[in-house]
Amino acid sequence: MVRLELTIKVEEPLILANKHVGGNIVQTLDYITGSALRGAFAARYLSLKGLSEKDEFRQFFWSNEVRFGNLYPESEGDFVFPLPISAKTCKGYKGFKNDDPSKEIHGVSDYLLQEIPESCSCNAPLENYPCFYEFFPNNYSYCKKVEVGKRFSVHSEIDDKTKRSKEGILYTLEHINEEEKFVGNIIFSQESLYESFKKLFFNSGTPISFKIGQARSRGMGKVIETTHSFNSDSFFVTSKGTVEERVKAFNEGNLDNNEITFSLTLFSDAIICDKFLRYLTTIPEWLVGEELNILSGKIEKNNAFTAYRMLSGWNAALGIPKENEIVINKGSSFLYTFKGSGEENNRKLIRGLEELENRGIGFRRNEGFGEIIVCDPVHLYLRELGGKP
Ligand SMILES: [Zn+2]
Repeated sequence: MVRLELTIKVEEPLILANKHVGGNIVQTLDYITGSALRGAFAARYLSLKGLSEKDEFRQFFWSNEVRFGNLYPESEGDFVFPLPISAKTCKGYKGFKNDDPSKEIHGVSDYLLQEIPESCSCNAPLENYPCFYEFFPNNYSYCKKVEVGKRFSVHSEIDDKTKRSKEGILYTLEHINEEEKFVGNIIFSQESLYESFKKLFFNSGTPISFKIGQARSRGMGKVIETTHSFNSDSFFVTSKGTVEERVKAFNEGNLDNNEITFSLTLFSDAIICDKFLRYLTTIPEWLVGEELNILSGKIEKNNAFTAYRMLSGWNAALGIPKENEIVINKGSSFLYTFKGSGEENNRKLIRGLEELENRGIGFRRNEGFGEIIVCDPVHLYLRELGGKP
């Protein structure tokens, strides 16, 4: 497995379809989905080569051999992750302590591995803090929220006949500002695939640019690639350490225990079904057992913080709406115990977890869904908040 790390810069205001908040307000997502990235590369492929090599097109865009990950906000060289749902902040003085040193902020703590207190030490209730956070590897005492620069603009629809504003049709668009940067990965199952992808898209010597998102015909949605680099190590290993190191940290350094604690945390939204294709809103023990090739009776779920939502979409190729799907939101976190018997079985578990992390979970993984991280150290070390039990 190799990956192409890609950074892009916004050149024109960007609207990444999310949902209509009120009647005529359109809000943008604050990241670029793998689906949008895949669509942009597929459109470019067709304009460069047409469909003369159907097999290659299928391999790039319609198989799990090439996976287009989400692009998350960039933060000057630090790593950026979605904050787990198991992390909570004080409702009265919310945020990471480093968000704004000039203000009183009570901080953010993660509660996947410890009991959640009734309230903050100031008596205010705790609440979720959905955001991206940046951190230095191995150091969770300088976490900070990553903000994406956005603004609103108000538009009116023009009447075709009179060329004047149509009465009653005023709408507000939220968009991401120019100059914002996003970073993410395209993952290839083999190096040869990476080579042919790179040769096709990145060999012209000039940075490539795309149009993504909404209102592309109205001077919006242009992004330009600023850097791309080849990496043979996994993104999670680079940013959070090896799976073995992380599992060890979750188990006080021991791998010879009869019980091993491990967590799974969604780095991107996931679409997961049971064998009757019914959507799941959690990752049950039996599925973890199947994914790890371990008897499910040996795995027990101890804790979970999850959220899910309905996802709709538009199939641009066919010109019809995509079927609604239920996705488990990124940041959902699950804690399990593995009742192995000694070190040999625990090592087998770790190999299974490494493969799961490299492969992802569920459907539409080639569009960035189902990226999952094992034993994210943030669950162990993000402890800013004092709490009343
Ligand atoms: Zn507080």
